[in-house]
Amino acid sequence: MPATTFEFQVEARQLLQLMIHSIYSNKDVFLRELVSNASDALDKLRLEKLRDDALDADVSDLHIGIDVDKEARTLTVRDNGIGMSYDEVGQLIGTIANSGTAQFLQELREAKDEAGAEGLIGRFGVGFYSGFMVADEVTLVTRRAGEDRGTRWTSRGEGTYTLEAVDDAPQGTSITLHLKPADPENQLHDYTDPWKIREIVKRYSDFITWPVRMVPESAATDGDGDGGEAPAPETLNSTKALWARPRDEVSDDEYHELYKHIGHDWQDPLETIRLQAEGTFEYQALLFLPAHAPHDLFTRDSKRGVQLYVKRVFIMDDCEALLPPYLRFVKGVVDAADLSLNVSREILQQDRHIEMMRRRLTKKVLSTVKDMKAKDQDRYATFWREFGTVLKEGLVTDPETRDAILAVASFASTHDETEPTTLKQYVERMKDGQDDIYYLTGESRQAIENSPHMEAFRSRGIEVLLLTDAVDEVWADAVGEYEGKRLRSVAKGQIDLGAEDEDSSDGGREQQAEEYAGLLGWMQEQLDEDIKEVRLSSRLTVSPACIVSDAHDLTPALENMYRAMGQEVPRAKRILELNPDHHLVKGLNRTYREREDRTELAETAELLHGLAVLAEGGQPKEPARFVKLMTGRLERTL
Ligand code: ADP
Repeated sequence: MPATTFEFQVEARQLLQLMIHSIYSNKDVFLRELVSNASDALDKLRLEKLRDDALDADVSDLHIGIDVDKEARTLTVRDNGIGMSYDEVGQLIGTIANSGTAQFLQELREAKDEAGAEGLIGRFGVGFYSGFMVADEVTLVTRRAGEDRGTRWTSRGEGTYTLEAVDDAPQGTSITLHLKPADPENQLHDYTDPWKIREIVKRYSDFITWPVRMVPESAATDGDGDGGEAPAPETLNSTKALWARPRDEVSDDEYHELYKHIGHDWQDPLETIRLQAEGTFEYQALLFLPAHAPHDLFTRDSKRGVQLYVKRVFIMDDCEALLPPYLRFVKGVVDAADLSLNVSREILQQDRHIEMMRRRLTKKVLSTVKDMKAKDQDRYATFWREFGTVLKEGLVTDPETRDAILAVASFASTHDETEPTTLKQYVERMKDGQDDIYYLTGESRQAIENSPHMEAFRSRGIEVLLLTDAVDEVWADAVGEYEGKRLRSVAKGQIDLGAEDEDSSDGGREQQAEEYAGLLGWMQEQLDEDIKEVRLSSRLTVSPACIVSDAHDLTPALENMYRAMGQEVPRAKRILELNPDHHLVKGLNRTYREREDRTELAETAELLHGLAVLAEGGQPKEPARFVKLMTGRLERTL
């Protein structure tokens, strides 16, 4: 088959451009990426052979090889792993499947300066393409284990690549980089220098469990060539699984490099967690809390981060049975001693030991966050900013760990502009006679703070939690109370903050109720389609009216969320509360009592309702009609 030229997919081309123009300053890491891919390929082959003994593949000496050629200025990274078929090369190397990539590229274009761009790149493993940081041409020759023919892929990274079938390819993949001239000032080192290669492998890939071997070129060309003995390859890494080594022998840096390998991240993790269980079900776990959320954290098929090994043998990626969904951002390795190598995802989901392991890992992750919170506020703040929203899902789905999650959760509050609070701290600050923990949900802190529902709370100095995540309403409902204090939305149900000012003493209120009874009943009839009750409010001090929900009704935001998820929910009628001390409401009552013709008044009631809806961030039912009525009123004021 002749060589065929193909075009890179748009995203792939953009990513390549970034690599070629070397937006990332530390270029050494390209080798880490290639070795990491090679290691994965060896894992995959071993697993496939385990599952299918008939697979025609040689697994007797699985390893990674690095060859340098000073004269030709090439560096080759080889593995005798799973390899790729012709079609796979096109799919895997010519396109970028990751859905977050487009978004990533968009953000990258928007990043103005280099530092910003580098930070972004650091959040995103670019894998194979990173070879183009140091090479102006890359050749990949690969043969999938069990297949006869191989494939050669070549590209200069400039928009096209060629594919060609080859007959004599060895099993696995070899990637040859035609190196750019060394340019130490720009951190482009001489990657044909065996010392440099040794250093990089040791630094970034030491934990790789497969041997990484190099035949130093000087040895290979020493002597008189043909007749010389083949020089012995040296193994550059220690090939020991980090989680199997004694804890005090492993440095933080080594852990971090392992994290980058399995997490496809270029940034150090926030926290490393080690755990060991002995006894009937032995396992070792090495977990990492990343320093930033992945792009796909909230997409339906977002990846889980934990790999399962059985006695050092890689079994699967993204093992969802090991941690609950709300810890899906945790990366790491679990190595279990007593599982079958053939274990499937279905079996894992039902296994009692795995279930116990999941509980223990979950507890350990949460207690780590708790420690972090106690000892290192900054790191905790980063963690909560990146992952708090996901963790709160656990409050809804996992009652068993509710308390542990609440212990590490923090929320924005009216108590402090910038410092979030825990529920515990909130309770400690509660006023005498205050029985409930108050919160309000909304789009943003500002929107919530300006909500009419907040007025009475503000004027009485009662603290309110300001919750802005979609999940907040759901968990607050599900959790219901904390340390015996009810969690109450200030926009739901009757609020009785006690009679603190004279105007609204009980006697005064009874009198008001009598005065307003007629108006309230009449307005209720007028607004019957949307409003189930019109009543006097004790939560308003400035605004004339506001909309509230019954204690157990869904709020509009939740209704919308359920609808977005495709669930049928009836629109709940709301409650309209009027501020009896407001000039406008007083006037309304006067007009109601004094005038027979209530056409105008009906419009005013409608407008008042629309204003209350607007104030809570909603939309009047018929915006055009609302605007028309409002314009008419405004005209009359001129
Ligand atoms: P990532 O490793 O993040 O998936 P890469 O661009 O590095 O992204 O690689 C894309 C895919 O190409 C890999 O997921 C893998 O399927 C395949 N691949 C890369 N290198 C090798 C290799 N040495 N052997 C077999 N497959 C490989």
